[in-house]
Amino acid sequence: MKRILLHLLLAAAAFAPAAAAAHEPQTETEVRNVILMIGDGMGLAQTGALMIDSGYAPLSFDRAQHIALVKTYSANNRVTDSAAAATAMGTGCKTENGRIGIAPDGSRPANLTELAEAAGLSTALVVTSHLADATPSGFAAHTLERYTSDEITAAYADAGIDILAGGGRAYFEASLDGRNIVEELRAKGYRFAETPEEFCAADELPLLGLFAPEYMPTADKRGEEYLAAATAHTLDLLSRREAGFFAMIEGSQIDIACHNNDTEVMLAEMRDFNRAVHTAFDFADTHPGTLVVVVADHETGGLTMVSNDRDFTATESGIDFRYSTTSHSGIPVVLYAYGTGSEHFRGTMQNTDIFRKIKELLIDRLSL
Ligand SMILES: [Zn+2]
Repeated sequence: MKRILLHLLLAAAAFAPAAAAAHEPQTETEVRNVILMIGDGMGLAQTGALMIDSGYAPLSFDRAQHIALVKTYSANNRVTDSAAAATAMGTGCKTENGRIGIAPDGSRPANLTELAEAAGLSTALVVTSHLADATPSGFAAHTLERYTSDEITAAYADAGIDILAGGGRAYFEASLDGRNIVEELRAKGYRFAETPEEFCAADELPLLGLFAPEYMPTADKRGEEYLAAATAHTLDLLSRREAGFFAMIEGSQIDIACHNNDTEVMLAEMRDFNRAVHTAFDFADTHPGTLVVVVADHETGGLTMVSNDRDFTATESGIDFRYSTTSHSGIPVVLYAYGTGSEHFRGTMQNTDIFRKIKELLIDRLSL
C-alpha cells in the first residue's frame, strides 16, 4: 500500500509544473530577513500597463500571497512627495513634504537601517536613481530639506550600512564641508565598485557601488537587467552572514518616467523592477524566514488607461495611456507581500504601518 502511495506521489510530482514547486510558500513563522521593494511612483495603473504590455503573461506581482491598499498622504498634503513617503515607511512618522527623517515637531525618529544595525542585523540600500535621492535618504538620513545632498551623503559616512548601490558619486565626492565620502568609506573598509559589473563581482562587505555622477541612466538606456542583478548579488552577500538583514531596493525611475508622461520609459523601468521582484520572491522561496514587501511610495502621473474608441461595445480598439498630471497623485497604492509574515500585510493600511510591522516582525523579536 505504501509503495502504491509512493508511486502516486511520484507520478503527481512528475506532472506538477516546475514553477509551482519552486514557489512553494514556506512554513517557518519567524522573520529573519526583510526585503522592502519600493516602486517609486508605481500605482495600480503602472502595474496594469505592464500587464497589458506583457500580453497578460504572469508577472511577479501575480505571485503575491497577500495584498493591501496603502494610504500615502503626508502630514501637510493629501498628495505626498517621495521624501515624506520615505520618512513614513522608513521611520513610521508622517511628516511634511520635503522632510527626510524629521517629524513635524522637529524630532528625529530612528529609521529602519538604524534600528536594524543597532539590533546586529545587516543592511542594504540599492536604487536605480542616486543615493542622495529622497527614497533611500528616508532610510539613512535626517534633514529638513530633501535636496541637501551634502548633508545626506555625510549621513552615509556614519550610517554603517553594509551595501550601498546606485548613482550619486558626485554628491558623495563633494559632501558637507568639502568632505569626500567615497574616500571616507574606503578608509573604513568599504570595497568600492564604479560599475554594476564591478559591484556584482565584489565578494566582500561592506560594499559601496556608485555607478553614475548623479542619476543612473533610465532603463531604456542602461538596459533592463541592472536591478535584478544588483538585487541577486545583494541578497547573496547578505545571506552569507549569520545575522538576518533589512534591505531596501528601489525601482526609482518609474517616477521620473511618469513625471515626463513617458510610457515607453515607464514600461522599461517596470520591466526592470518586475525582474527584481521575481528575484526577491525566488530568494524568499529558498531562504525560509524571508519577508518581501513590494509597494509604491505614491502614484506619479495620474495615469489611466482608456479605450481608444468611445464605443467600448465595439471590438478592441487599442488602449490609450493618459496622464492627468506631471506630478504625483493622491490615489492609494497597492502593497504586495510574499514569504514569511506576509499575512500581516492585508486590508487597508497607512504607509507608516509598513515601518511598524517590519519593526515588530524583524527587530522587536531580537530584544524579547
Ligand atoms: Zn516624483
